[in-house]
Amino acid sequence: MGRIRWLAAWLWLLGAFAHGTDAARIIHADREPGQWLTHGRTYDEQRFSPLRAIDRSNVGGLGLAWHFATGDTRGMEATPIVADGVMYVSTAWSRVVALDAASGRLIWRYDPQVPGAKARDACCDVVNRGVALWGDSIFLGALDGRLIALDAKTGAERWSVQTTDPAKPYTITGAPRVVKGKVIIGNGGAEFGVRGYFSAYDAATGALAWRFYTVPASAEGPVEHEELRLAQRTWSPDSLWQTGLGGTVWDSFAYDPELDLLYVGVGNGSQYNRAQRSPGGGDNLFLASILAVRPDTGRLVWHYQTTPGESWDYTATQHMILAELDLLGQRRKVLMQAPKNGFFYVLDRETGELLSANNYVPVNWASHVDLETGRPVETGRADWSGTPRMVMPAIVGGHNWHPMAFSPETGLVYIPTIHQVYPFVPDPDFRYDPATFNTGENWPALAASAPAFAPGFCSPTRLTAWDPVAQRQVWQVKFSRGVSAGVLATAGGLVLQGTTDGRLVAYDDRSGAVLWESPTGVGIMAPPITYTVDDTQFIAVVGGIGGSQGGHGDRLDNVNSGHVLVFALGARGAPPDVPAIQRSVHVPEEALDAAAVERGGRLYAVHCLRCHGLNAASSGLYPDLRTSAPGIHEIWNEIVLGGALAGNGMASFADVLVERDVRDIHAWVIDRAIRSMQWSHKALDAAANLVCIPAEWLAD
Ligand code: CA
Repeated sequence: MGRIRWLAAWLWLLGAFAHGTDAARIIHADREPGQWLTHGRTYDEQRFSPLRAIDRSNVGGLGLAWHFATGDTRGMEATPIVADGVMYVSTAWSRVVALDAASGRLIWRYDPQVPGAKARDACCDVVNRGVALWGDSIFLGALDGRLIALDAKTGAERWSVQTTDPAKPYTITGAPRVVKGKVIIGNGGAEFGVRGYFSAYDAATGALAWRFYTVPASAEGPVEHEELRLAQRTWSPDSLWQTGLGGTVWDSFAYDPELDLLYVGVGNGSQYNRAQRSPGGGDNLFLASILAVRPDTGRLVWHYQTTPGESWDYTATQHMILAELDLLGQRRKVLMQAPKNGFFYVLDRETGELLSANNYVPVNWASHVDLETGRPVETGRADWSGTPRMVMPAIVGGHNWHPMAFSPETGLVYIPTIHQVYPFVPDPDFRYDPATFNTGENWPALAASAPAFAPGFCSPTRLTAWDPVAQRQVWQVKFSRGVSAGVLATAGGLVLQGTTDGRLVAYDDRSGAVLWESPTGVGIMAPPITYTVDDTQFIAVVGGIGGSQGGHGDRLDNVNSGHVLVFALGARGAPPDVPAIQRSVHVPEEALDAAAVERGGRLYAVHCLRCHGLNAASSGLYPDLRTSAPGIHEIWNEIVLGGALAGNGMASFADVLVERDVRDIHAWVIDRAIRSMQWSHKALDAAANLVCIPAEWLAD
């Protein structure tokens, strides 16, 4: 680096000190490795801790130091923040707790009172992936689109701004990041149909500093910023503008303070089927892209589109890691991502140049990524615009939101991977309906193609250690059930990951050998972190299953009781005692009309399936409707039309369903319950693991 650029970097750092200590603290996080100050610990989001008091040789002595019951029973995806002995954790429904990081004592609790009915706008549960810390404020993105600043000492609200149009199905589940005094926040909702964007707000006042839309408003505009002219040329004038086109930014950010570039991961299109979304084609920028912008202005410096003309829910919102790698004898500043489309990308993060790409899970939609053009080479085998297709990776992607980790000591990236096929079925009669999912899929046909008793989607998941230089797998651990949770790597030679069946596991980072494991009483999706208080190293993880996979991917044995679990060497605490889920089938005595059952099944697929699961058999996160108590059957209409359980997240559907619809859905649910009685729960459990990819779906 030239002298001028060093000088510029120094001047910038001096400026950073002027904001208070936080910019410098986060930039120099390795000077105080006992803290966990930002989402990925450092701005480069490596999720690697230099702490090494707990290592391969002594990890067997790890035990539970304390646990804290949050009171939630929905999905828990948060990365805690730890600063100066205090832990800040967001939970389901965008609630926040501050805990003494050494003892677990509650310091304060904050509930933004998100209306329960807002759950209907969440594609993937009422989760929250974490808060941000800057100065003495905590920043929270709430499910209903508010960005909220709290006093870190007391939890008192300092300011709150609505970042989305409350009339539209926008949600926030991602963690804010704070860069140069600006709070960066995106949103979700592309499955329903919204226009994606991300924004920067002044951390002190909550004033909007800038906003970047990821897709154009329409063929005629308005053109809110120059970058949209570039995007507009890649969309057909006949695009489905009324759907908003998607491109939501719901999770991933990283920041390089030296290059002063903020990296942003952009999501899938609304709707999925590109032949209907943008008739006549086009790359549909900036769907499924990685953007590099200036944090002061939001102006675009470069972009790289992982999936031009995205058509499979292949978001590029997955976790991005910044690192330095030796490639062909050169030290390169890279950005690494394993987006849903199944390819692992290494980009030059100064220019956006593609350096290498290889598939990290089985893929059939593209043969490879052409390094000359930087574009994937589609096979045509996954083009479902006119005919149903079996597509790999599945709709959940080869990797979803669950954070990966990079160890500079092994040079490996540890990726929670998903090896799955998905049947895309086009709906030739697709009409945009703002009240429900708008993916362009034929949901009733999809549901009808599933095995009659399958408890739900299953997830053949693995933990994959990936060499990003050689672009190849080094080791892999296979799971028989559930999701592959978020990952932490440490300088102690450990890779830590929770499991759906309620364990925290430490692997040897070189081989994948299990070095230690402990029961946690509750299933885990969230990534562990590590920190110190008074020279004691702790490992913390948030327990609680949910999200898009957790709702259907498995069958919970115990109540999904949200917990913060913290481990230390020599500790001997017992895991929380969580009650088992009681399941019994009560079938109302009414004659079922076959036509009503059939009609109810189709309505269920459109309106209910995305939460309550195939065959009305949820994992237990949402009620398994087949096991509804007699009292629930009695007030069925009051729940579905009257909104009697809206406070729990079951909103009224009176805007899209009438009494006859609800009666037919009820008949279909009863029919499913009767059929399920022919199967023991044990058989259902076995089916959950066996019927991952039905043979008839593979006969392509
Ligand atoms: Ca999506």
